[in-house]
Amino acid sequence: MKDTALRIAGFKDSIFGVISKLAREHNAVNLGQGFPDFDGPDWLKDIVYKKMQEGHNQYAPFHGTANLRQEIANYYKSFYHLNYHPESEVTVTVGATEAIYLVITALINPGDEVVVLEPFYDSYVASIKMAGGIPIPVTMHAPDFLIDQKELDAAISPRTKLIILNNPHNPSGKVWLKQEIEMVAKAAEKSDAYLLSDEVYEFLVFDGCKHIPTATLEGMKERTITISSAGKTFGVTGWKIGWICANETVSKACRLVHQYVTFSVSTPMQEGVAESLKKLPEYLPGFVSLYKEKRDFFYKEMRQLGFDFSSPKGTYFMMVPISGKTKLNDVDYALKLIKENKVATVPPSAFYLKSTEGERYLRFCFAKKEVTLKNAVKNLQGL
Ligand code: PMP
Ligand code: GLN
Repeated sequence: MKDTALRIAGFKDSIFGVISKLAREHNAVNLGQGFPDFDGPDWLKDIVYKKMQEGHNQYAPFHGTANLRQEIANYYKSFYHLNYHPESEVTVTVGATEAIYLVITALINPGDEVVVLEPFYDSYVASIKMAGGIPIPVTMHAPDFLIDQKELDAAISPRTKLIILNNPHNPSGKVWLKQEIEMVAKAAEKSDAYLLSDEVYEFLVFDGCKHIPTATLEGMKERTITISSAGKTFGVTGWKIGWICANETVSKACRLVHQYVTFSVSTPMQEGVAESLKKLPEYLPGFVSLYKEKRDFFYKEMRQLGFDFSSPKGTYFMMVPISGKTKLNDVDYALKLIKENKVATVPPSAFYLKSTEGERYLRFCFAKKEVTLKNAVKNLQGL
């Protein structure tokens, strides 16, 4: 048989799949892959069921149902004062993962450079490679996950076509300050590059922090492509409804790819998300306080177990330093914890191309039931 395509050469099973499989095999408490182990609210599910019963069951318009695009445009306007035209600037995708793939495929030619801030969500680099682009990593240095102006400048070149920023940030839980986003925005302007802003955790911010969408920075709306996902906002990762907000030219290009990748996205789910987005103002305070409670509980327990780090300001992840506990690297320590302590975490070195800083950390997901978090803590006693 002839070989499979070069564009996937070197691809392996994703770290999330590998860890979840190991967790099952070893009967470990799974704080690895980022998903809540509890269900979304009943009212949310009722809405989708109603949409199915009302007959929203055939193909949706390929760029998204009119209702959903309108509601997405509405919340960007009411929360952030950002105006996106629902017909020409909002596109619905199968989760943020498809959105990332579409943006990169629509913009990147072979040989184009894409600056990625590491640690990164793994699909960025995979999509860049499939497009024949060249990922150029810039490290967000631990423990505060700050980027260095000199390193950013050195990464930018006339070949830079796109920079990818994730805020709030998976895996560190960092919520970017305005001046930090500005640093990246200026780099994009300097190299006349697009800026892909992955904001899937936009509503998961704690302690009075404010999420600042990149597109709200002065002069950045045209250049910025913003993506988000209902999976995070409503705690239903399996729903896989995401979106892209971008200028008309970029939206058109993304839609050209989308029509041949998925063509259109599940109709009743879109209609359900449209209805649910209307309820954001009532829904969000309870949502944020639920996750804050989990963060506070798990952070306190991890401190008591002797892990020394600051509490994350956003997302549902914690990057926990392991140097004080072991001489093993992240992968070996993660394997040891799964096998011996029955707790699964993600070794973050999978999210880096350049730096080895990830080897000194493990990523814990705290979007879990109280009993799951308590069991994990119990299993980690004595470390
Ligand atoms: N971006 C980031 C930073 C993520 O953590 C994830 C995964 N949860 C995604 C994108 C993908 O989101 P979705 O599940 O909507 O495809
Ligand atoms: N985004 C989730 C995480 O970071 C996982 C998504 C996936 O499994 N691809 O854990």
